[in-house]
Amino acid sequence: MAYTITKLCMNCKDISCTQVCPVDCIYEYTGDDPSIPKNMLLIDPDECISCNACVPECPWEAIFPNDEVPAIFSADIELNAKIVAQPRIVPIRPEGTKNPTPEEVQSNKKEKGYS
Ligand code: SF4
Ligand code: SF4
Repeated sequence: MAYTITKLCMNCKDISCTQVCPVDCIYEYTGDDPSIPKNMLLIDPDECISCNACVPECPWEAIFPNDEVPAIFSADIELNAKIVAQPRIVPIRPEGTKNPTPEEVQSNKKEKGYS
């Protein structure tokens, strides 16, 4: 079982997750397929070792083990799998990035229909 980044990540700029993944399997898509988003990161399920390190690190609470992905984000499991063997990079966290406030986290969940 792998982990999935849900659409709660969309437009995230903090990229804390990639800094803690021991196998560097959290990617930003760099190709041209419009069905694979570039404004969220995706976990390669073939490389993820399900260590859980990224979950507490994500300030937007966007990452779940596949068997705990909320129903509203269930399609994101397949979406993450699309990153396998695609052009991609492991992005680095920009310096000085601030974490969201609890209010911003709740507001993002509400906006994505998960609250
Ligand atoms: S830390 Fe969370 S919200 Fe930010 S890029 Fe990673 S998965 Fe997305
Ligand atoms: S669960 Fe571990 S291996 Fe999988 S993406 Fe998160 S940090 Fe990386």
